[in-house]
Amino acid sequence: MKTATTFAMPLTDEQRWQAVCERDPAYDGQFVFAVRTTGICCRPSCRSRRPLRGNVRFFVDVASALAAGFRPCKRCQPASIDPQQQRLRKVEIACDLLAQESAITLDALADAVGMSRWHFHRLFKTVTGLTPKRWQLAFRARRLRDALSASQKVTDAVLAAGFPDSSSYYRQADAALGMTARQYRDGGESATVYYALSPCSLGRCLVAQSERGICAILLADSDEALLAELRHIFPRAFCEPGSEAYAIEVEQVIRHLDNPATPFTLPLDLQGTAFQLQVWNALRAIPPGQTVSYQALAERIGRPAAVRAVASACAANKLAIVVPCHRVVRADGTRSGYRWGPARKAQLLMKESDKES
Ligand SMILES: [Zn+2]
Repeated sequence: MKTATTFAMPLTDEQRWQAVCERDPAYDGQFVFAVRTTGICCRPSCRSRRPLRGNVRFFVDVASALAAGFRPCKRCQPASIDPQQQRLRKVEIACDLLAQESAITLDALADAVGMSRWHFHRLFKTVTGLTPKRWQLAFRARRLRDALSASQKVTDAVLAAGFPDSSSYYRQADAALGMTARQYRDGGESATVYYALSPCSLGRCLVAQSERGICAILLADSDEALLAELRHIFPRAFCEPGSEAYAIEVEQVIRHLDNPATPFTLPLDLQGTAFQLQVWNALRAIPPGQTVSYQALAERIGRPAAVRAVASACAANKLAIVVPCHRVVRADGTRSGYRWGPARKAQLLMKESDKES
């Protein structure tokens, strides 16, 4: 249980009772209350009918209430973790399963996280920007890129990356790489990345798209700097200006950059290690107007000791604002670095806090 940071002094029972009467969610996690007559314990914000003061006992956390023989309320579920974290956890479990060698069906994945097939598919796509099938293909492609960069034999690398041992594996591997495995290893002909340049409220912006989805959103003061960064990120790709139809898609990206509260529905091509993907997905779950510390983010992905690795993954983000790495701040609340400059981070956070207040 986390300690309260907003209240320096321990709460008095009078303050606790006041919080229960007001059903104040700010006190959730700081204590629970239990009702002698029903044998049930609740979060302060529980919407159930208020008990009589004389029947109420307070506990510092739900574990103490359970130890005293109370049952957790079914309505406010004081023992369960934050629902948003629960959903992310389900996606993480699915990603772990997809990262394994063997084939797994959508039904089996949904089963493994206790959801219906339809709800699971929608959740997975919302969090990762990819269907489970495309996520697995992208994951294998990443492993294949690593193996090919270590210049293994092409056949060995394709098999080592988890592509099935069948006549179709070259085709699947090629589709995942956007080029043939041999081309990739040889650094010969390259995949194409289409891009568009546009003004936005944060300066100049570049939006790049692979055949799998939006693969980079970059910010800078000049188009030259944007194109140099794009070539640095995709050294082997053939970077080409996008079509008119693509420019229309880019408008949706710019709208989202200028107002992060507008929905973003384009498919994403998140290219990174499994760990980076985990961090970026956790970032995408932070709503506009909220910030977290690197430590809190590390805890959210279940790796509390990996604070520095989490900070590196934030710095390696290639999708400005859509993967909101600007919402991570130091533990003391001060801003830390930002890939696209501290001034832009300050501007973004200020704008988002205005909207929320
Ligand atoms: Zn309750």
